[in-house]
Amino acid sequence: MPAATHHILRLRHVTVRYGQTAALDDVTCDIPCGSSTAILGPNGAGKSTLLRAILGWHPLAAGDVRLGDDHPQHALPRLAYLPQRQTIDWDFPVTVRKVVEQGRYPSLKLFQRLGPADLQRVDRALEELGLTALADRQIRMLSGGQQQRVFLARALAQGADVFLLDEPFAGLDLFGAEELTHILRTWEAQGRTVLAAVHDLELARRTFTHAVLLDTTLIAAGPVRDVLSPAHIDRAFRQGRCVHDNPLHSVRSADFPR
Ligand code: ADP
Ligand code: MG
Repeated sequence: MPAATHHILRLRHVTVRYGQTAALDDVTCDIPCGSSTAILGPNGAGKSTLLRAILGWHPLAAGDVRLGDDHPQHALPRLAYLPQRQTIDWDFPVTVRKVVEQGRYPSLKLFQRLGPADLQRVDRALEELGLTALADRQIRMLSGGQQQRVFLARALAQGADVFLLDEPFAGLDLFGAEELTHILRTWEAQGRTVLAAVHDLELARRTFTHAVLLDTTLIAAGPVRDVLSPAHIDRAFRQGRCVHDNPLHSVRSADFPR
């Protein structure tokens, strides 16, 4: 008998509404510990809402989210969140090191400064993401891929083991995307859990072990190859987005970024 999979996140009947409209409707799925899971679905499917619901930022109209045995709100240092690129002010004058140090702030008491142990964590995170030489640069001077790494380093410095990334590949050039793929694979090999909203099905298939396919309701969840079957893709993307002989290709070439 295969070993039982340990699930780090359990979503049960998760329902989120904005006013009268359900952004997520009765979503039940489990995220395996140490997996990399792509959250997939068309524009407006509820991918960002799902990540924020896990963080406890949206009151649930129904359902429940658990991180291990806890409510996520009671285990927040374990969860790191990377917002969509467009929501970050990249012109803000701040150095790479200062951004990564922000990862330690939630662990400090009021008026407490970073101690030697905090600074050591910051140094380790900078080193792990190859940013040591860039630590004193302003973030606006960096490439998109380097900027992304700064925010991943902040998440590491926080001491998180579950990473919620909203469209981390959006806006990266090919090199940046390859670098990010390498980082995510390394994290997964280290037993960290990554959950990322992604809108490129081919990239999801190549990069992630698992997937959750949504269109407000859950369409499928599990190993990425099972989830990305033509029938599932058809159900998720049928409205106005032509899915012809080669669904992966048709869907990938459709334009539904968010
Ligand atoms: P995705 O990330 O998959 O594109 P979202 O989670 O951002 O989808 O949005 C899901 C649905 O919820 C969409 O219909 C969107 O218009 C709606 N929505 C998202 N954020 C808000 C908000 N702050 N207020 C009202 N409706 C929202
Ligand atoms: Mg989104």
